[in-house]
This record gives sequence, structure tokens and C-alpha cells, in this order.
Amino acid sequence: MSRFQVLVVGVGDAFTARHHSTSVVLRAEGFSLGIDCPDRYREALQTAGAKAGQAGLIEAVDHLLITHLHGDHVNGLEGFAFYKHFVEHKRLGLVISPEVRQVIWEQRLMAPMGTLWDGQNFRQLGFDDYFQLLPLPFDQTTSVGPFRIRTRRTVHHIPTSALLVEAQGRTFGFSADTAFDPGLINFLKAADLIFHETNHGPAHTPYERLAALPAELRQKMRLVHYADDFDVGKSTIRVATEGELLEV
Ligand SMILES: [Zn+2]
Repeated sequence: MSRFQVLVVGVGDAFTARHHSTSVVLRAEGFSLGIDCPDRYREALQTAGAKAGQAGLIEAVDHLLITHLHGDHVNGLEGFAFYKHFVEHKRLGLVISPEVRQVIWEQRLMAPMGTLWDGQNFRQLGFDDYFQLLPLPFDQTTSVGPFRIRTRRTVHHIPTSALLVEAQGRTFGFSADTAFDPGLINFLKAADLIFHETNHGPAHTPYERLAALPAELRQKMRLVHYADDFDVGKSTIRVATEGELLEV
């Protein structure tokens, strides 16, 4: 049985000119679950996969979990879902909170995806033509393939899901975008590997707050969503890097 692995696809923030915006692919038992879907998503998957020696990722990722609807986490979704629809003739499994489901189609995707022209006629399509919904309510446990996912709402501008993902007796924690939140640290601390964001501004986590956490917690933590000017060399917490393949 293959181990629970995390492939780092992107590590940057919304404004990055150096990286892809933050996203990862979780892999276990031959199942791949993408977490967030930034710009140039297929290229990002291809590049990270090539670095990690993992071929065929674009085809392997049939399920995407979207933590929240800021563009750096979702801008790639229209193109990726069109690719699955037209090229692979598949619906994409979309793992989202009810709060995200309420607006993702009507306020984000319907304008570009709701009408198709076949050369003669216009046809109306809906969410279910492109996606298979897997609801991810806050504070509950949801199963997706081999993964059991528990979520917690973060402190951010819009509804955002932090994750505890368990497979094969190991647990991966993902802060998603959040202000520093001791309650969230408490939620994540049981995980074997934790990805935590850091960035500027009131809705993100200052590096200093994470650097002040106990050493045992920092040792199993990797930083993501860091700004281009983040001083990686001075960080006492390791940063995740693109194309890195970690075992949970
Ligand atoms: Zn955000």
C-alpha cells in the first residue's frame, strides 16, 4: 500500500512573481486529491510532478478541494474543469463547504461556463454538468477516497476551511489562509505534518507568531503562502518548496 504523501505544487501568495500560488496534491492508495487550484494549474502540476518524478498528475487529479474563493486559490478552476469536460470527458469531484457552494457557480463560474455553443446552437449548462459535489461542512468529518477530512473555519475575509486530513493512520494539517489563531493551532497540533500559511496583513499569520510556538510543533511544520520577500534563510521553520514530495 502506497504511503500518504504530499506533493507541493505551489508555495506563493496572491501577488507572487516568483512562485505558483499555494497548492498541494495529497496522494494515498493511488488516489490524488488536489488542495486549491491557482492560476496556470495544469502547468503547475506538470512542473511540480516533473521535479518529484511523478508523471500523469493532470489526469490523476480528479478531485479538488477548494479552501476558499480568493483568486489565488481558485483562479485555475474554470480552465481545469473545462479541460476535464472537453478533453477527458469527466466531471471533476469538487470538495467544498456549503458556504462556498452557495456562491461558486452563480457568482464565479456561471458567466464563463454556463453557456456553450456547438457551432449551431447555444446550450445552457449547470454546476452538475461539470462537477460532482462532495460537501465539506465546517466542524464535521467527510470521506473522500482514502482520506477522512475534518475542517475548521479560519479567521479570514471570507469562509475558509482549515483541514485535518487522515489516511493510513497519519494526519496532515493545513491551515489554509488565516489570521494567527491559537484555536486553529490547537486543532492542527495533533497532525504529523502541518502546512501553515504566513503573510502580511490582518487576515494572515505573521511569521513571528509561528516562530514563538514550541519547538516540537515548529519541527513538524512547513510554511506556505509566504511573500516573495520572505527571508527563507532566517526562518526557524522550514518552508515548503515546489516539487517537494513529503511523506506524512
Ligand atoms: Zn485568502
